[in-house]
Amino acid sequence: MSYFLLDDYANMEPYLPGEQPEGKWIKLNANESALPPSPAVLKILNEAEYEGMGFYSDPHCHKLRQAIGEVYGFDEKNVFVGNGADEVLAFCMMSFFRKGMKIAFPDITYDFYRTYATTYNLDFTQFPLNDDFTINVDDYVDYDGDVILANPNNPTGIAISVSEIERIVKKNPERMVIIDEAYVDYGNESCIPLVRKYDNLLVVQTFSKSRNMAGARIGFAIANEDMITDMNKIKFAFNPFNMSSLAIEAGAAAARDVDYWQKCIHQVCDVRDAFEKDLKKLGFDVINTTTNFTFITHPHFSATYLFKELKKRHILVRHYDTPRINNYLRITIGSFDVMLKVLYAIKEIVGEGYESPDQ
Ligand SMILES: *Cc1c(COP(=O)(O)O)cnc(C)c1O
Repeated sequence: MSYFLLDDYANMEPYLPGEQPEGKWIKLNANESALPPSPAVLKILNEAEYEGMGFYSDPHCHKLRQAIGEVYGFDEKNVFVGNGADEVLAFCMMSFFRKGMKIAFPDITYDFYRTYATTYNLDFTQFPLNDDFTINVDDYVDYDGDVILANPNNPTGIAISVSEIERIVKKNPERMVIIDEAYVDYGNESCIPLVRKYDNLLVVQTFSKSRNMAGARIGFAIANEDMITDMNKIKFAFNPFNMSSLAIEAGAAAARDVDYWQKCIHQVCDVRDAFEKDLKKLGFDVINTTTNFTFITHPHFSATYLFKELKKRHILVRHYDTPRINNYLRITIGSFDVMLKVLYAIKEIVGEGYESPDQ
């Protein structure tokens, strides 16, 4: 720590992303997509874009906000865009939260919330998930502070219904509810339509998962116009040109290609369902996820052992060395061929009998 770092950040605890290894790996540890972005994206990355790169991008990101608004039936005034959902969440926190403010989220969820809350000294509460990893909605309905939930949750992959979210939002109009829908497209209902009814709901989504564009860094929020205006004011005070012209163009093209987006989602869900079925045959307990990953445990093989054995075979999955979930693995759903390879590797590791070599 330098002499100059603010005392406020003494507890800083940066978020640890999944490893990004060099070389030839089957990389299933960060829920990235195995599918390419919409072909419409490739088309716009043309000479005009190349020549236009000498100019600053549109700080209002009109084109991208309009395209996203069209998809969800909202005006661009209701849409905020940022450099990934993480930046959108950060601008939201920066705009609406300060030291000491109360916010709640589950004990097991996207770790970015805890690291952000710790760094900025928010007064945060982590409600434990139920034993089956479902969220106890009443905890949040009765809580007297703001709420942030990933829905479906990460890494468990379990979702709560829109009516349950509405219960939390409706209870107290002075409480902000942030719903992070990074995985909503894989078979869940979005709560974006609730934004028309409630001024205290902010819904965040990303192009990193279901639109196959994690490297382009595009995320967005939909909320009532005043909240979006506030966030844009903060953005202009911090980094007016937060989106590159490439991200704006590529994002708008991808957003408009609804057919391709839906086709990719179906493909991922089909591979996931087949993979999960095969895992069950090998004795795994599979949490029923509605995401582009699976969350699994085996009664006779520890997750640490499975993680190491897969790593030996150059397959990288996510293992969280944290209480309650340290015997689980989160495996991103890759292409059909890749998941076949992973399945063969797992078969080789667990064999046909389920005797644990490390117990
Ligand atoms: C992947 C993920 C994000 C990050 O999205 P980016 O747009 O890549 O920043 C946000 N929230 C959750 C729950 C995620 O799993």
